[in-house]
Amino acid sequence: MGKTTINIDYSICGESGKIDPRECTKCLKVCDPAVFIMHETIGMEDKQEDPYDPQDWRITPIWGSLCNRCFKCVDACPEHAINVKW
Ligand code: SF4
Ligand code: SF4
Repeated sequence: MGKTTINIDYSICGESGKIDPRECTKCLKVCDPAVFIMHETIGMEDKQEDPYDPQDWRITPIWGSLCNRCFKCVDACPEHAINVKW
């Protein structure tokens, strides 16, 4: 299998996007090989109202080499923010 590229449109989900991934997590739940992680972003301190809540979160496809190209994440994402190609 060739290299798979998984992209998430962060203008839609996470960071400045309209979707807070903590309130969705559909891609995390449907991906059997657990390609994605959800994590806070770094360098956003000035924007925090609560210093103990990072506020800005994103989904990153960190284990892309495990992807089996099932497209469950693409189908599950309500905002069409995920693109899988190779
Ligand atoms: S295509 Fe399937 S295996 Fe690949 S990241 Fe999406 S849900 Fe996971
Ligand atoms: S399924 Fe889509 S909208 Fe939901 S957390 Fe994943 S990338 Fe964001």
